[in-house]
Amino acid sequence: MCALPNASYGSSTPTNEANPRNVIPEAGRHFHSLGWMTGSGGAIGVRRGEEIYITPSGVQKELMEPEDLFVQTIDGKSIATPPAFKKLTQSSCTPLIINSFLKRKGAGAVVHAHNPNAVLISLLYPGKEFRITHQQMIKCTYNWKLGKNNKYFDELVVPIVEGQPEEIDLAPYVAKALEDYPDTSCVIIRRHGMYVVGPTWEKTKLMLESFDYLFHIAMQMKLYGLDPTQPPTESRENSKRLLLDDPDVATRFAQMEITIQKLTQQLSQLENNAGAGSTYVRWGRSLCSGDNTELVYSGWEDPSVLEITQNWCNQVYAGSIYIQEYEKWGYNNIIAT
Ligand SMILES: [Zn+2]
Repeated sequence: MCALPNASYGSSTPTNEANPRNVIPEAGRHFHSLGWMTGSGGAIGVRRGEEIYITPSGVQKELMEPEDLFVQTIDGKSIATPPAFKKLTQSSCTPLIINSFLKRKGAGAVVHAHNPNAVLISLLYPGKEFRITHQQMIKCTYNWKLGKNNKYFDELVVPIVEGQPEEIDLAPYVAKALEDYPDTSCVIIRRHGMYVVGPTWEKTKLMLESFDYLFHIAMQMKLYGLDPTQPPTESRENSKRLLLDDPDVATRFAQMEITIQKLTQQLSQLENNAGAGSTYVRWGRSLCSGDNTELVYSGWEDPSVLEITQNWCNQVYAGSIYIQEYEKWGYNNIIAT
C-alpha cells in the first residue's frame, strides 16, 4: 500500500541516503507534474547529516538543477550556494523549513506544496482542524508523538492556520501549530497549501500524496452527505436517515405500501376461491353424487344432429368443456374434443 511508486527517488527503504542534489530537482518535476508546484510555488528541504538542502526562491520547479540548491546548517550557517551567475536567492520558505526541522527532531525532509486539494479543504473546514477517520490511507501518515504511523481507525487531526499575504509571515503560525499538535506531520495553510514534515525523504513524499488523497476523499464524502469523522456504523445510520428524510423516497415508499396491500387482498381472495373446487356435469344421470355438487341441467341432446347417445360424464371447468366422449351408434368411433 505504501510502497514507493518511483524508485528513481532513491532506495525504497527509508534511509534518506539519496543525494539531495538529485532528489530535490527530480521531486520538483514530479510535484510540478501533479500541479502542486506550479508557477514557481512550493519548496523542498532535505536534510542529510548536518546539511540542509533547500530550493531557491522563484524558480520553476520542473527546471531546477542540482547546483541550484542552497545548503546550510540548522542554525543558519551557509555551506553552499548556487553559482553567482544564476542570481538565485534563498527561498522565503527557508524559515518555515528550518522551524519544521527544529520542531520535529530527527526529521529528514520538509515539503511545502500548493496542492489544490489542501486549498479547497481549508475552505470546507472553516475551523482550526481537519479531521478524518477509518480510511486506509491514514496508515501512511506518521505520528511524531508516537514515533510510528497512524492506524486505520485513528482519527487523523491536521491543524489549519490562516494564510498570510507573505510566505515568511506564516513562520510563527506554522511553528505554533507544530507545537500545539505534537503528533502531526502536516499543517494546512488556508487558501494557500500545506507543509508536510517526515522522518525521511521517502516517507515525506508518501505522506504528501496520502494527505492530498485524504483531503480529496473528505471533499467527496461531504458532497455525498457523509461525515469523514464518523466511524463506519454511524456513517450507515446517517445514510439511512438521509434516505428517509428525502421527500421523493418517502412518497415512493408510501406508494409501494399501498400496492402491497392491494396485492395482499387479491391473494387472499384467490386463496378463498380456491376452496370452491371445479364444476362438472354428468350426462345421462338424474342425480349428483359426491360432496358439494349440484344439478345444473337435465335434458337430452338433439339426436338429429349427432345421432348419439350420451354414455359418459363430461367435466366442465370455468365454462369450458375440456373432454367430451361419445359413443356413436352404428359405428365404433370415439369422438373426443
Ligand atoms: Zn507557499
